Amino acid sequence: MRHLITTDDLTKEEIETLFADAESFLKTPPPKLLQNRLIITLFFENSTRTRSSFEIAAKRLGADVVHLDVAKSSTKKGETLYDTAANLNAMGPDAIIVRHAQSGTPYQISRHVDCAIFNAGDGAHAHPSQALLDLFTIRKHFGGDIAGKRIAIVGDIKNSRVANSNMRLLPRFGMEIVLVAPPHFLPTATPFATTTRLEEVLDEVDVVMSLRTQTERHAHPIYASLKDYAGDYCITKERIGERNILLLHPGPVHRNIDIDDAMLADPRCKVLEQVRNGVAVRMAALKKLILANG
Ligand code: ASP
Repeated sequence: MRHLITTDDLTKEEIETLFADAESFLKTPPPKLLQNRLIITLFFENSTRTRSSFEIAAKRLGADVVHLDVAKSSTKKGETLYDTAANLNAMGPDAIIVRHAQSGTPYQISRHVDCAIFNAGDGAHAHPSQALLDLFTIRKHFGGDIAGKRIAIVGDIKNSRVANSNMRLLPRFGMEIVLVAPPHFLPTATPFATTTRLEEVLDEVDVVMSLRTQTERHAHPIYASLKDYAGDYCITKERIGERNILLLHPGPVHRNIDIDDAMLADPRCKVLEQVRNGVAVRMAALKKLILANG
């Protein structure tokens, strides 16, 4: 049974095929490859983009989509997560798309079901479909080969599942990573170059990935204020200047904290292109795993 818990679940060759599919889905209306397939979305944490992106992707491929409203589900009546998953599994879905605040939950569920589990974000651990769409967007921008391209990941890296998944995926395609954050947002051990000073790296990178401060994962406030943080790390037009830099952000953006109004409106900022590409990449991932599982 194939699952997408981390990006390591896919080989490089599979990712290449997946991207070729995504590219074709962007160009021509997709065939209904998942007709009569059932996909359940199970989100224990808030989501704007990821849930709707997966649901649109599934529907475009002709699948039936059911969303379990967790607030009204039996987990609220004391049913364990595994029993909830086992009960959903008994209804015969082809895939369950899971988001949970606790790292490891999608993996644990995958051991109790016989359908594909897609991790739509688990704690600070992983967000594989986001990293795949980020990589897809970067490759599309540079016309394919990204070996040797440099990316600065800026912000709350330690608490970001998006950063974690990208730190695993992008080097597999030859990208070099530099982490830019205040000391308390940097991982304690990392193989990547780190700096606390954004200005130091701007002349050396091709891509900047800005991240949201993950306040929901901070036990207590660890930055005096988001305004202070923005003073050092906000991606402003003034800081970027005329540099030829691709600017990404997984959303939701803290406007004028992560990226300022001017850069959000700048053509170098591809946040909405990431969202558009995300649907196509998720279509390709759903197709790949569901059809592989038979
Ligand atoms: N949407 C992304 C996530 O779910 C990033 C974020 O929330 O900051 O991890």
